[in-house]
Amino acid sequence: MERVIDKVALVTGGARGIGAAVAARLHGEGARVVIGDVLDGEGEETAQRIGSGTVYVHLDVTSPQDWQHAVDAAVGTFGGLDILVNNAGIADFAPIEEYTLERWNTVIAVNLTGTFNGIKAAIPALKQSRGGSIVNISSVAGMRGYEQLPAYTASKFGVRGLTKSAALDLGPHRIRVNSVHPGVISTPMTAGIAVDMSHVALGRIGHPGEVADLVLYLASDESSFVTGAEFVIDGGDTAGTVTRPAP
Ligand code: NAD
Repeated sequence: MERVIDKVALVTGGARGIGAAVAARLHGEGARVVIGDVLDGEGEETAQRIGSGTVYVHLDVTSPQDWQHAVDAAVGTFGGLDILVNNAGIADFAPIEEYTLERWNTVIAVNLTGTFNGIKAAIPALKQSRGGSIVNISSVAGMRGYEQLPAYTASKFGVRGLTKSAALDLGPHRIRVNSVHPGVISTPMTAGIAVDMSHVALGRIGHPGEVADLVLYLASDESSFVTGAEFVIDGGDTAGTVTRPAP
């Protein structure tokens, strides 16, 4: 129950889905948590449900001003910042031929530039920590291409690369930076999308809590020698294709 005791975490996109599961898991292991999101009602409810030691702040990850406010909330309310989880993300499906520059810019702004903004804003506070951890939520779409997802795929490859560059720059400050690459997870983002998982080793989609368990490891001191690394959590999806015998 104490794997991140005395640590303070900031989780973006924490109102629902993977972010809410991460916030709850970190809190359950002793962290105090700031949830940032643009869904204010849902975010407040999630913070209340998780319980005392959790606060919600409005944080649009594309806004450096919002980021400053969120980091100030962590430092002002809980005395510092040790863990940043850059989880906020959006997906927008269309073939590249139909993709407009505006749609491209919107996805890149949230998924990639939002992660850059977060790292930049958190560095001064993380430097004061005894050992900071940044966990960037990429995707299996940061490991291989997906059709009809040009901006999402590019943004998630970008997050993977940004993670490694930041890990090199921040290592001397004892700040670790890693990326997490989920396969299909049951969240509002994937609700209503038909997925066939019969070719995947574990044959099912994942749950937000399973991703949260991995983030908890990377956020905690248990991963003290892990930085600049990528962690796939996809039930075996990117490992290869399972051919099941015909019934
Ligand atoms: P979700 O849509 O359920 O949650 C995403 C959250 O991000 C929402 O609360 C949303 O309001 C918030 N958000 C969106 N734009 C924002 C902004 N500009 N500023 C702050 N918050 C913003 O999605 P999810 O499935 O929980 O996804 C979480 C992360 O995991 C995303 O980065 C996503 O790309 C990644 N991911 C999800 C899956 C999946 O199958 N669900 C797979 C791989 C990666």
